[in-house]
Amino acid sequence: MAKVNTVIQRVRGMNDCLPSETNIWQMVESVLKRVASSYGFAEIRMPIVESTALFKRSIGEVTDIVEKEMYTFDDRNGDSLTLRPEGTASCIRAANQHGLLYNQEQRFWYMGPMFRHERPQKGRYRQFHQFGLEAFGIATSDLDAEIIMLTSRLWRELGINDFVTLELNSLGSNEERAQYRQALVAYLTEREDQLDEDSKRRMHTNPLRVLDSKNPSVQAALVGAPKLSDYFGDETKVHFDQLCRRLDAAGIKYELNERLVRGLDYYNRTVFEWVTSSLGAQGTICAGGRYDGLVEQLGGKSTPGFGFALGIERLVLMLTSLEKVNNVRPQVDAYLIILGNKALDSEVEITANQLAEQWRDEVPMSRIQCHCGGGNMKKQMKRADKSGAQIALVLGEDELARQLVTIKYLRGQQEQQSLAFDQVAKLLTSLI
Ligand code: ATP
Ligand code: MG
Repeated sequence: MAKVNTVIQRVRGMNDCLPSETNIWQMVESVLKRVASSYGFAEIRMPIVESTALFKRSIGEVTDIVEKEMYTFDDRNGDSLTLRPEGTASCIRAANQHGLLYNQEQRFWYMGPMFRHERPQKGRYRQFHQFGLEAFGIATSDLDAEIIMLTSRLWRELGINDFVTLELNSLGSNEERAQYRQALVAYLTEREDQLDEDSKRRMHTNPLRVLDSKNPSVQAALVGAPKLSDYFGDETKVHFDQLCRRLDAAGIKYELNERLVRGLDYYNRTVFEWVTSSLGAQGTICAGGRYDGLVEQLGGKSTPGFGFALGIERLVLMLTSLEKVNNVRPQVDAYLIILGNKALDSEVEITANQLAEQWRDEVPMSRIQCHCGGGNMKKQMKRADKSGAQIALVLGEDELARQLVTIKYLRGQQEQQSLAFDQVAKLLTSLI
């Protein structure tokens, strides 16, 4: 049989992130981490694989994620495992397992890949990355407001606050939702002939999700349906009013959206989404809310919780399309051009390497790339330009004799200049 060496391709919907993009990711990640820390959140890292039961029990059996999107497999012991489709369930599992929620308040953030078997398209992938955070132990709306303020700060810091809007809703308590559910099912039953197959099925299993249907004829049948807010008691109303007032006081604008029910079953009271029109169909960049029953549902002591997750790919796409990536730092600040004679151990070369080491000691945050492999000025300048560096530092026989380097500015009109070796650190610091 002939041997065929085909190139193995990536798995559909799972992307490589190449160096030309990783610097944008790193910028985004550093803003996310810094802002989360500035509100007292600490990082937690969970495994990527969990027991399948964890997600069934938390996200809900009758949700898109559990019904059709999970990567579930039996391992070699026959245990059913799942690649995590989201972070909240894992975070609570870990916190419960280590006793972190017992009569305590906690604030965690996490970041990493999530897996859902969806139809890949712009902004929707099978492996994607979320940054999420969860706060436990506080049932009052000051927490809801503070976390929404945190998200709002993220958009300001990333320069996209003019391109996102906040949608807000309350899902009430579990009891209020149960009463509403009955009324909604009664309403839908009378109009069953106007529903599509998905909605007919959901009407019995998870009727609130029918409200979320994208089908126009289902939406038409829903005009005049009972409203969840009609079933709210005082506590829910006060919680939501307080939240709205706090957001008003913080100058955060929002739109009330009664149709916002979220695709995961565990939410109660506050739910929110940040949406943008600059990404086409995949317009939600960040979503979350309150989940006061989930910790108990996963076997822990009853503990209120509030959290959100944002999609990093969608943020990166948005930043790129809005051209908000100009301030992203290139991988290299300075490229050292070495014009010695041919011998590899020429004095120029040895000095160049010693100088680079010295500058790295002096300015640890700087990124200095030394040219390797020889070549003339033209070739090395080409490399310097390609590296993305701001400046080229040139060291030749002449410079060595005078104990200085020639600085060539690669990104502007600035004239070249000469700098004594011990002045270079100052220049490098100014580039960071
Ligand atoms: P969508 O409305 O896009 O289906 P969702 O309601 O399923 O999102 P969540 O489970 O709340 O999303 O996840 C939070 C965020 O994670 C989303 O707002 C989105 O930015 C991102 N996200 C979710 N699914 C994907 C995916 N398949 N690919 C890329 N990003 C995703
Ligand atoms: Mg989804």
